[in-house]
Amino acid sequence: MADYYQLLGVTKNVNADELKKAYRKQALKYHPDKNPDNPEAESKFKEISQAYEVLSDSSKRSVYNQIGHDAYVRKGHGGAGAGSAGSFDAFDLFSQVFGGGGGSGGSIFDEFFGGGDKRQSRTGPQTGADLRYDLKIAFEDAVYGADKKINVHKADVCERCKGEGIEAGSGKRRCNTCGGTGQMTITQGFFSVRQPCQQCSATGEIIEKPCRKCRSSGWVNKNKSIQIRIPAGVETGSRLRVSGEGEPGVRGGRPGDLYVVLHVGEHEFLTRDGDDILIEVPIDFSTATLGGTIKVPTISGSANLKIKAGTQNGTIFRLKGKGVPSLRGQGRGDQHVKIIIEIPGNLNKTQREKLKEFSESLNADVYPRLNSFLDKVKQLFNQ
Ligand SMILES: [Zn+2]
Ligand SMILES: [Zn+2]
Repeated sequence: MADYYQLLGVTKNVNADELKKAYRKQALKYHPDKNPDNPEAESKFKEISQAYEVLSDSSKRSVYNQIGHDAYVRKGHGGAGAGSAGSFDAFDLFSQVFGGGGGSGGSIFDEFFGGGDKRQSRTGPQTGADLRYDLKIAFEDAVYGADKKINVHKADVCERCKGEGIEAGSGKRRCNTCGGTGQMTITQGFFSVRQPCQQCSATGEIIEKPCRKCRSSGWVNKNKSIQIRIPAGVETGSRLRVSGEGEPGVRGGRPGDLYVVLHVGEHEFLTRDGDDILIEVPIDFSTATLGGTIKVPTISGSANLKIKAGTQNGTIFRLKGKGVPSLRGQGRGDQHVKIIIEIPGNLNKTQREKLKEFSESLNADVYPRLNSFLDKVKQLFNQ
């Protein structure tokens, strides 16, 4: 019989990482879930697990190395050959190595192989599926909150049969095809595979007279009007959970939930940045130069904004607390006002002459940025 190193396909000086990798590879290959009803694979799986259990433990490994494989197994340290491993559990080890929470390792294995629901009960209650509904709302609804009615087309419990799928006065009998187990064993050559019974859809029971409305499914599709409350401060991508409005559960399971995903529309001149509101406000060139007070629209009416003399294009002023109410806890965002200075166009002759006259009266120091730029350019070309 092969020793533990050979079983895992590693050398005697293998380190912990390589050992683990080798074990994972072999264990996945021989795992009983991947080799159903194959006793050879199962015993191989146990041997591999046993080998890893010993070699990954430094004290066990040193004893094993000292006395050799045969003596180690004979002394009852290794239970693989005898088929009884004492407290050792190959599945438990598999779960630990794959980071699972113990047990048989089924769920971890499912993740690896996209495994079916063979370990999941086919006859117990099953929670209904969650549903998603995309809802467009206006900018203002996201800011102030709103009550909305939505129409959801979804499966619901059949009223005629109360979800039983059976016509009134009729009943169920045991499925003869599978003998009431819901499972069929199909043998092909050496392999036998367990499959859900087609006759009874794996329920183990046959409905004598199926409900005429839902044809025994217990469900019907219908439109349902659902009232939802949108809280103030939601954004595009915000999800609202409506408990119990998903698809109905199966065999007494609770229904799933409905998730309403919000898409917020645009405003004519306000934009959102989280809880803050942004607005670009054009002002005339003389207000920017002389200063003044302007009225700015906000989500809670108009606000006065003081423009100081010499305000430059692109300056951003903050209106504190004029933003959107925060979804989490209290407080609200700010409104940021970006100033856009509009240069007058279409001047008449008199206006043009006056402006020229005014411009010529100015000293260089009224344009510090322009003059510093011109100086630098001059230096550049004089080098
Ligand atoms: Zn029905
Ligand atoms: Zn059946």
